[in-house]
Amino acid sequence: MTGFRVTYATLSADDERLHAACDGAVDAARRAFAEHGPFPLHVGTEDRAGATTFTTVSPVDCDVVVGEFAVGTADDVADAVGAAEAAFPAWSGTDWRERCAARDRAADAISDASVTLAAEMGWEVGKSRLEALGDVEESADLIRYYTHAMRQHDGFEQPMERLAPAEATFDVMRPYGVWGVISPFNYPMALVAGPMGAALTAGNTVVLKPSEVGSWCAHRVYDALVGAGVPPGAVNLVTGPGETAGAALVADRRLGGLTFTGSSEVGMAIHSSFSAEYPRPAICEMGGKNPVVVAASADLGLAVEGVARSAFGLGGQKCSAASRAFVDASIVEEFCARLANRAAAIPAVGPLARGGFLSPLVDDDAVARYEAAVAEAGATGEVVCGGARMTDGELGRGNFVAPTVVRVPADSPLWTTELFAPLIAVAAVDSLDEAIDRANATPYGLTAGLFAAEQEEIDTFLRHIEAGVVYVNRAAGATTGAWPGVQPFGGWKRSGTGGKAGGGPYYLQQYLREQSRTIVSRP
Ligand code: NAD
Repeated sequence: MTGFRVTYATLSADDERLHAACDGAVDAARRAFAEHGPFPLHVGTEDRAGATTFTTVSPVDCDVVVGEFAVGTADDVADAVGAAEAAFPAWSGTDWRERCAARDRAADAISDASVTLAAEMGWEVGKSRLEALGDVEESADLIRYYTHAMRQHDGFEQPMERLAPAEATFDVMRPYGVWGVISPFNYPMALVAGPMGAALTAGNTVVLKPSEVGSWCAHRVYDALVGAGVPPGAVNLVTGPGETAGAALVADRRLGGLTFTGSSEVGMAIHSSFSAEYPRPAICEMGGKNPVVVAASADLGLAVEGVARSAFGLGGQKCSAASRAFVDASIVEEFCARLANRAAAIPAVGPLARGGFLSPLVDDDAVARYEAAVAEAGATGEVVCGGARMTDGELGRGNFVAPTVVRVPADSPLWTTELFAPLIAVAAVDSLDEAIDRANATPYGLTAGLFAAEQEEIDTFLRHIEAGVVYVNRAAGATTGAWPGVQPFGGWKRSGTGGKAGGGPYYLQQYLREQSRTIVSRP
């Protein structure tokens, strides 16, 4: 620990000790990758090698092998669910205060190792130094937020009113049983630790299937939990492809509930199949196509900074990334010019270096998607800046593409398809109403931003915008940068099914079901 706390709103960090520690950790992480043997599956108390393995490489430098991980089969998944089922009576029967204490110790262990974990994450998924430190700290804070919620509700046990003196009723919230967690690559710790944190705090036991790219970080979270006293079996880890290991987990009828975070395509299929037999909670947090509205009254400096950070941060691979901007026609030319200048000013260095902001795309498929989108924009509209793979110097070793601004016609697929790349489309609008109508004209409803000076404009935007997470005049991120306990994070429409947001006051309850207990005392 360096004493310097980084969140997603941290714009820069001048703490020399932090940077010296990060520099050392980047080199140490690379050595750790080379020295670490294959990672097993964790099924109950058993570490299983797996019949086959897969390796992952760093998107920062495709010659760096991050790790070799066991491929979990359908049988491994079934055994992990069985182990979680066997562990459920003891874990759910453990006093909730003890469960919370174990979780808090895990959170502290994650915070204590933040620099090491952030460096490993930087290599594994290509996060910049500050973004990776933010992800690690968010993981710890999500765990803490849910234990705090459990304490705040005193374990969710409360006496109710009486209808007769001899009749006492208690309302209790009880865990479901085995909870599946399936996580995406882009927040490889926070979106493992958050859902697992809530599920375990509530007394469920967990089987985790992380993204293949992100398996190293998932093991780190597992180690922190078990190291802090969460019994193996209460937590199980099966790595492997989504189409096999993930699908086997979703299909397991013994699951009491499931949290999926990832693309809308996969999430919607999971959501519609999970309750085919009987209702079971499937919390699916999914994709976005997040708009920013810039009114004529806006402070353009704030707007350009906020949009640049949200459109280009993590290579546009945040579910909350800004990918559409609706700008008042009177200022759209100036906005585009200034955004292009801001993009050009991003240092052409990788994410692991001090001051690095650029992140590579996760793999070759993502680069191909970006290139196809740029071609589409060039054919039907205008590429204002960027538009190419970056191959100079060390960037040529990874999947780097230039931050890109395009202007395309209203019927372009670039307005509706989630691209997950540093590309934002800009359109001129004649009024705030038109901007809000266009902002809402997608199936998604995750995040949205507004830049405007007039209170009436702000009120109108807040009343009509269809998104779960909304920011106004935020230079630190027009649509990005939510923090547990500060900005609850969840999507509307095709972006999320829960209606209750992660890191918010109503999230933990989704992992519990209510039981009303009336006991009549004998005369
Ligand atoms: P993805 O949907 O490809 O994969 C997510 C997870 O699902 C992975 O663990 C994958 O192995 C697994 N999976 C894939 N197919 C499966 C199947 N048939 N059955 C079960 N599991 C399966 O997503 P990704 O590329 O890892 O992440 C990017 C996506 O995640 C984007 O769409 C982004 O918007 C979304 N996301 C949403 C949020 C949010 O909070 N709303 C947060 C982060 C990412």
